[in-house]
This record gives sequence, structure tokens and C-alpha cells, in this order.
Amino acid sequence: MAVAACITASAQAPANRPNIIYVFPDQMRNHAMGFWNEEGFRDSVNFKGDPVITPRLNAFARQARVLTSCQSNFPLSSPHRGMLLTGMFSENSGVSANCVANRPVSDLRDDAVCISDVLSSAGYNCAYIGKLHAHHPTPNDPDRPGLYVEDRVPAWDAYTPPERRHSFDYWYSYGTFDVHKHPHYWDTDGRRHDIDDWSPRHETNKAIAYLRNDGNVRDTSRPFFMMVSYNPPHSPYRSTDDCLEEDYALYADKPLGELLVRENADTTMSKAVSARYYFASVTGVDRQFGRILDTLDSLGLADNTIVVFSSDHGETMCSQGVEDPKNSPYSESMNVPMLVRYPGHIAPDVDRGLIMSSPDIMPTLLGMAGLADRIPAEVEGRDYSGRFLGTGDSAPLRDGALYMRNGDGDRDSLGNVISYFPVARGIKTDRYTIALTIDKKTGKLKSSLFFDDIADPYQLRNIPLDEQPEVVADLCARMVDLLREADDPWYKNHILADMIPYPSSATAD
Ligand code: CA
Repeated sequence: MAVAACITASAQAPANRPNIIYVFPDQMRNHAMGFWNEEGFRDSVNFKGDPVITPRLNAFARQARVLTSCQSNFPLSSPHRGMLLTGMFSENSGVSANCVANRPVSDLRDDAVCISDVLSSAGYNCAYIGKLHAHHPTPNDPDRPGLYVEDRVPAWDAYTPPERRHSFDYWYSYGTFDVHKHPHYWDTDGRRHDIDDWSPRHETNKAIAYLRNDGNVRDTSRPFFMMVSYNPPHSPYRSTDDCLEEDYALYADKPLGELLVRENADTTMSKAVSARYYFASVTGVDRQFGRILDTLDSLGLADNTIVVFSSDHGETMCSQGVEDPKNSPYSESMNVPMLVRYPGHIAPDVDRGLIMSSPDIMPTLLGMAGLADRIPAEVEGRDYSGRFLGTGDSAPLRDGALYMRNGDGDRDSLGNVISYFPVARGIKTDRYTIALTIDKKTGKLKSSLFFDDIADPYQLRNIPLDEQPEVVADLCARMVDLLREADDPWYKNHILADMIPYPSSATAD
């Protein structure tokens, strides 16, 4: 499929190509959309949807292709974003862990061809609004030369200078920052804006202004690609400093047992009260997403615009009793929304057969825009656009989604992390979830999580590996192909070769 980018001019003139809007809140699990409890959707999944109020997403879902199984392979901010932008797994995107100043090992590669680079070369205007969190923070504050943009040590937030923006010609973004009602952004020209508003509402204002072309920010003779990265829902979820009062009021009086409805939720955890703020954030995001849709309608852009709603990763919110909201193979952590609307081209439906991975999103969107011939050769994701469009020429489906978790490896004399350690790998298939964690010193198996997601949809029983050896062997065999496609260190270094049947020729080190 893949031919080097920028060689072939495609037949379709740029002005006729669809616009693309990609909206992704940060920590929104697939379960947190109200339509999963509605007729037409409820029978497609084997979990109870959250009792969350999302009227706009519910209506949008009936106009869209809705996946039941879009998996965030490495369910953490930066690694997912690296895969989303480059179409490559974290080994090759450059983003091998969450980006922070003392972890230079994780940084979006400047020489990777991102989705925005391809679309820009095909004539698109490209806009990025909201959280990026894919670059290693460096001391490059435009207002304070030689300093980081924040004084916290190590710095997490970051400024992305123009030469690192991967062809996004409109910029209103920041690295990572969690004060939801006092966000800040750097614009196209590097000017900082400090705002007193709930960040999704402010970012939606900016997105609407971009759509209306206020200030002549785009060339209306060209198609546009706009990414809108809302931070909420994202911790903290502690008070109405984190969400809007009107949304909190919808959940304030509900007993926790009515909010955390799945059997795997532990409502006695101190975190459980956060559910009210979490769902309030989701409802607020739903309303803001609706404002974008309304603007498309009022401008007559809806028919020629592909609109995607997804997320970075999920949020466990007391499921399995774990404190960590993400970075785990549990369903609430890995399974994210994936709704795609393209009127007249993608028939509204629920797709239960496709397990989509983070790196598949970039080539699939390029395929939908008629740019399959420009998918960069080094892309590892698969172009499923034919499946969405009904043209039949889709990439073959994967057996499942790779699960990945990295930890810090070696440090230099200053304490900077200069390599990563591939702590855990696993696979999520249409029936099972398995994750194998290795010991850093010995490289041997340290622990495992293994669930039969059909018999036990809430992942309440971690099956001992020796109880179902044939199934474990089959899942390990399926992992080989995924690890090879991901150019993964487990494949290159034959990690857990006593369990995972790597081909004997698969040696790298
Ligand atoms: Ca995140």
C-alpha cells in the first residue's frame, strides 16, 4: 500500500477533498457515552454504559460509524499522541513514554511524517487547538529565553516552536497543564494567552472562530484539517474548579452506586466521589462538541467534513479497585470512543468486527480523504478506510490490539532518562485480554493479567496462566505478529522467548 509521500499528485483537486475535524478529550473511556444504554447500541457491547448525560454524542452516534473496540495500545497521553500523529507504534514515533523534561528519551520525531505533514502537502490548511503533550520540554519559553515555560522541576508543560509543528499552520496549543478553568496556550506566533474559562469551552470558541474564518486564519479555497484536543475529562476531578457547575448539578445528588454501575467498580474507594466530576466533565465536553457540530451545520460544511470523536485513553474510575486511572490493560483504560461521520460516504452503523489500534487512525483518515497513495512508507498502522467507506479494499484486520507499557531505563549523570524499559506487553482480542509484565533485573515473567472478556466482561477474575495453557499459547503466538509490526523491543530481543514463539530468524541484537 504505502508509497513515499509527496511523489504522486492525486487526481482529486484539493478543494474537493473533505475537511477533517478530529476531536479528542484526554481521558474519556468508551463506556462514558450515554448511547450505549440505548436501543440500537446496547446489544453491541457486553458492558453496561455509564449513566452519563451526552445528548449530542447520542445523536451523533446515529449519524456515524461507531466502533465497539478502538484500543489505545499504550493508554497514556504522550505515547498515544505519538502513534496518532505518526501512524507508528511508540518504538518508532519517538514518543516512548509520557513527555517530561527529565525524560529526553521520549520526544516526537521531527523527521517523522505526521498526518498534518501529509495533509498540508496535499493542499490542506492544518490547525491544532488544545493539549499536545508529545514533545520533550526544553528551556525555550518565548517570554523568558533560556527557561522552561514553568518553574516546576521537572517541567511537564512545553512550548512547541514553529519548526516542530509538523505543518500545522494554525496553532493554539500547550504541552500539558491541568488547571481546567485557568488554561493557557501559545498561538501561531508564539504569544502566550492566559484564559479564565473552562478549557473545552474556550477551545471550542477558538475552533468555531477557525471554522468561521474569523481573522482570515485559513484559505477557504482549500480543505482544512483541525485537531481539537480537550484536556477534560482529566484529573483532577475534585471540585467545580474542574468542571462547570451546571454539569455538576446533574450528578451532585446521585448516590455513587447509581453512577459507578459496573460490577467491577469499588464505590468505597475515596476516589469514588470523583465520578460526579468525571461525568460532569463528560457532559460538558458533549455540549462543546455539539457546538462544533452546530457551527458546521450553520456554515453548510457538514456534508463535506469528516468528523471524528475519540480519546487519548480511558479512565478506570475505581474499576478493579485500581488507583491508576490509565496505563493498564483493563477495558476502562484501553477502550476509547471512535465515532466517524462522513455524510453520504460512511453509512451509519456499529462496527463490532474491527479492533482498531492507535497507529491505524492516521492512515485510515488519509485513506478516507482519498490520499492512500500518500501514506508514508514507514507507517505501521493499517488503512481501514475501505471498511468505513464500503469500498471493500480495506487492509486485512488484525487479530487484536497490542498492549504496551514502558518504564524508565538508564539515566545519565544528570539523572535524565536516556532509555526505556519495555515493562509489559500483551494483546486484547475479541475474546481475551492478556498482559505479561517482566522483571527489570531478570527479564523473566513477574506478573500477568489474563481475562476472558466474554465470560467475564468486567474482568473480575485474573485467570492463572497454567489454568488455560492452550489459550495462553495461542495468544502469545498472535502477539508475535503484532510485536513484529510494531518493531517492538520484545520482538527484537526475544523477551519471554520461553512463552512467545518468535521465529528463529527474528534476531536483531
Ligand atoms: Ca492522557
